[in-house]
Amino acid sequence: VVVTNDSRGRVLDPGVLYIDGDTIAAVGTDADRLEQRYEAAQTLEAAGMLVLPGLVNAHYHSSDSLVRGLSPEMPLEVWSAYTEAGRLDRTLREISVSAQLGALEALATGTTTVLDHLRLSPRLAEEGLSASVQAHLDVGVRTAVAPVLSDLSLGEAVPVDAAALPEDLRAFVARPPQPAQEQMAECERFLKRWAGSGARVRTLVGPSAPQRCSDGLLEACIEMAARFGVGLHLHFLETRTQLRTCEARYGRTAAHLRALGALGPRTSLVHAVWATDHDLDEIGTAGTSVVHCPTANLRLGSGIARVREMLRRGIRVALGTDGAGCNDSLNLITVMKAAGLLSALDGPEQAARPDPASLLRMGTLNAAAVAGWPDRLGALAPGWLADVVLMRLEQPALVPLHHPVAQFIYATEGARIETVIVGGEVVLRDGRSMRVDETALYAEARELARGVVQRNAAAYRRAGELAPHLAAMVSGVR
Ligand SMILES: [Zn+2]
Repeated sequence: VVVTNDSRGRVLDPGVLYIDGDTIAAVGTDADRLEQRYEAAQTLEAAGMLVLPGLVNAHYHSSDSLVRGLSPEMPLEVWSAYTEAGRLDRTLREISVSAQLGALEALATGTTTVLDHLRLSPRLAEEGLSASVQAHLDVGVRTAVAPVLSDLSLGEAVPVDAAALPEDLRAFVARPPQPAQEQMAECERFLKRWAGSGARVRTLVGPSAPQRCSDGLLEACIEMAARFGVGLHLHFLETRTQLRTCEARYGRTAAHLRALGALGPRTSLVHAVWATDHDLDEIGTAGTSVVHCPTANLRLGSGIARVREMLRRGIRVALGTDGAGCNDSLNLITVMKAAGLLSALDGPEQAARPDPASLLRMGTLNAAAVAGWPDRLGALAPGWLADVVLMRLEQPALVPLHHPVAQFIYATEGARIETVIVGGEVVLRDGRSMRVDETALYAEARELARGVVQRNAAAYRRAGELAPHLAAMVSGVR
């Protein structure tokens, strides 16, 4: 059963797919007699399989995988202190292994392309960014890496009452980040290194969020993204605290980004949970995309994005898992399900509620456009890149099969994905990686994670000291 996700939304039963190199040559049924036009050098028997295009995760942070399970159930601003502690001073090998874990988890759950919004703390460095790209390539997934840049101190980015802090914490929240020029230079080296490097890699520029960046840095990021012809990717109004911070500093939110030149069709704003009607008008008019990460928004108690309002305005909505620290899974199928379920609460009109086909488009075509592969990735159609997922039909969630797309999203949770093809290459077979020795990788990841936690013990302690102050700040925001 082939779910094409093409412009006609065709489901072919039984379907046939021909792949030539990294591209889909033909899709059809027996009746199309494709075998008369194509000769198969190699055949993959997929009887008993649900066949779909590979999913695209439009927002995650690869560095979180190595410290999964260590961030408490707290609001974003408090949670961030712990996540930051676990991310400090990563070696290239730690960056690489964390990204390989993310890439493997993606493949195992049907995702073939990921957008890695990669923060390296405390210093952005081209080598670290490139290590993540290479790690994803080694596992066999497509990757778009957006280096995170930010130049405001923690005390400037969140409205914590610094005067109430003990002296050492006051000094900590006032500590300036790596100079913006250095971050820009590393980002530029990275963009140059991977420019035109082939069908499996894209780059973006990823200023962290408006409340964490000066206008000067945002403008420099916008200029660099335009110069390299790549997308701009940033968090936007994830929490009520961020909305109030932006209002207090800029007096407005999306209009502030528009005034700087940050809004446009190649810009993607992650979350937009607290976007006002005016913000959504600005986003819609600019043709800017929103990346919806509903599971992470629930995990951090951030709120529920108004996806139906976005869709009504014609805004392109893509889906992302967000990092392993705040989802905590990298399974995009469960994110499609969460997006569908939560949309039921988003206003009384049934009409605008996204149906399963729309949810699938958000997790494929729309996300691919955000990541840098518009109209090339996310459908099984001639001329499109051959990223294909095969899930076993012989499982309770798919028997009987009344609605393949609805059951894939709402019932399977990704169970029994057996084969995954990226660019015509089988990278997962019988649920196992064809590219990396998983047993060795897991052993190394455990070892490295122990080192990361030990090395950063003082930073975790400091996060614990800061947490009550941040929590008090968050609960005071109205
Ligand atoms: Zn994020």
